[in-house]
Order: sequence, then structure tokens, then C-alpha cells
Amino acid sequence: MTKPYSGGCACGAIRYSAAAEPIMSNDCQCRQCQKDSGAGHGSYLTFPMGAVSVEGEARTFDLTGDLGTVKRRAFCPTCGTPVFMTFPVMPDLFVVRAGTLDEPERYRPQMVIWTDAAQGWDRLDPTLPAFARMPPAR
Ligand SMILES: [Zn+2]
Ligand SMILES: [Zn+2]
Repeated sequence: MTKPYSGGCACGAIRYSAAAEPIMSNDCQCRQCQKDSGAGHGSYLTFPMGAVSVEGEARTFDLTGDLGTVKRRAFCPTCGTPVFMTFPVMPDLFVVRAGTLDEPERYRPQMVIWTDAAQGWDRLDPTLPAFARMPPAR
């Protein structure tokens, strides 16, 4: 068993731990991730919900993606850090933002999605598989 992936918000009120390897690690360049991060993309690790524990009360807001999936984005009401994301229609998934990890160097992006919406100034690793929108379902 590898060391859990732990992390939290900037002020420490929200803490999470995931005792599993990520199911998926990806950068996303969609407009919602640009708005939400204030940068060119978001970087995400997706874990199985059963391996996750969260401490602290996050505030949430729901956003519907272009393909109709509701994303419940959770942020710290004190410091405002966007910390994690869940999906009401896919309750088995828990997505954390790579920058909130205690050891962010453990993030290993496997792919870039939503390059259709990418900004020219947001240059990511060109060797990663890239998808115009979502990757094809496996
Ligand atoms: Zn906080
Ligand atoms: Zn996105």
C-alpha cells in the first residue's frame, strides 16, 4: 500500500486523504477550469470515493459541463481555495486539485483534455496525449 495522497486548502480548514492510487490524472483546459483556477488550466487527480476521507466543511457550487455532467466544486469558505470536486451522477469519484496536495510533485499528468478551449499562452507538456474535448470512453 502506497502512502495516502493528502492535502488541503491554503488555510488548513479543509483536509483530505486518499488511500489509493489515482484512477486518472489529467490537465483540463476548458473555460470553466480557466475561470475556476484563474490560470490556463486545472490539474486533477481522480480517486475512488471509498478510499477518501475529508475533514472540515467545504462550501460547494454546481456547474454543468458542456456535455451535461454536473460538477460539484468544493471550496474552503474561509480562504476560498478550490480543493476538490464530486459528481452527483458519479458518486464513486472524488477529484482533487493537484496544487492542493501536500506533495504536489506526486502528480503525474497522463493526458490533457479540452484543448479546444486552450489559450495560446498556456503551454503544457507536448508529449502528453491530448484530446479536443473529453477522451473517448474506455
Ligand atoms: Zn481554507
Ligand atoms: Zn476543465
